Amino acid sequence: MKQKFIYAIAILFLAVVAIVFLQDEEPTSQQEAKQDTSVNSQSLKKSEEVKIHIIDIGQGDAILVQSKEDAYLIDGGNKGKGDDVLDYLHEQNVDHLTAVISTHPDADHIGGLAEVIRGIEVQSVYAPKVSHTTEAFKQFLLAVKEKSLKIKSVTSGGSISTNTSNLTLDFLGPTKDYSKSDLNDWSAVLQVTHGDKKFLLTGDAETPAERDMLTAGLLGPVDVLKVSHHGAAEATNKAFLDVVKPHLAAISVGEGNRYKHPTKDTLNRLKDANAKIYRTDQHGSIIFVSNGKNIIVKVER
Ligand SMILES: [Zn+2]
Repeated sequence: MKQKFIYAIAILFLAVVAIVFLQDEEPTSQQEAKQDTSVNSQSLKKSEEVKIHIIDIGQGDAILVQSKEDAYLIDGGNKGKGDDVLDYLHEQNVDHLTAVISTHPDADHIGGLAEVIRGIEVQSVYAPKVSHTTEAFKQFLLAVKEKSLKIKSVTSGGSISTNTSNLTLDFLGPTKDYSKSDLNDWSAVLQVTHGDKKFLLTGDAETPAERDMLTAGLLGPVDVLKVSHHGAAEATNKAFLDVVKPHLAAISVGEGNRYKHPTKDTLNRLKDANAKIYRTDQHGSIIFVSNGKNIIVKVER
């Protein structure tokens, strides 16, 4: 009788150990498969994530599109911000860039790119076919030359190849040549598609560029809009928002900037369009994490 009791205790003990052990184990492939089809955003599988970082570099733009296989940098902030961008890339464990995209030659976008190109391995460089006489633009060209790279022209209909499954990068703009007196409409407009999720990165494209993309039938609903020209009134028109219909909007803008960006008009238009607004001057760097089905937003503050 006593022996039976000891056996029972032993079996019970083994059962408890087995349960604890099984719970500690890695999830089985069946469990993983179940998690992948779940709508729960907590189930993002690291290797399939694409992160879009709106890097807080004050007034200007610097955006990182990052997957396990690829990293793309769109603009590098003002002159002197290149080192901050490089620091950010290192923090994110980015040691090479699949491509650098300069949206247009204005200093608050191209200013930091020379430092970035000199400071990290870059595979290719894209820019619209428009030049500028500023020192920032000259330094950008010089850095590209030093690295024995050639600038690939951005035009509407072009795309960038990726090594990431379910990730495509398509240029929607510029749809044509604009006046060289205002470079904003020349902006490379990039649509990033990851699975079912779409991100529209508009540089500083203003009303004429928005109208031309609409007329050409290039625009459609997106999940995330990187708001054009730091929230200036001359962009992000109602006609544009009626088609693009973003749920989430990010404004890259410096605190207390002298341009008074973003304007009330633009903020109101975004609110009327039911877009949730994130701003680098209030939230710091903003990261949109996509698994192709869901997006979660992480902010620095
Ligand atoms: Zn700008």
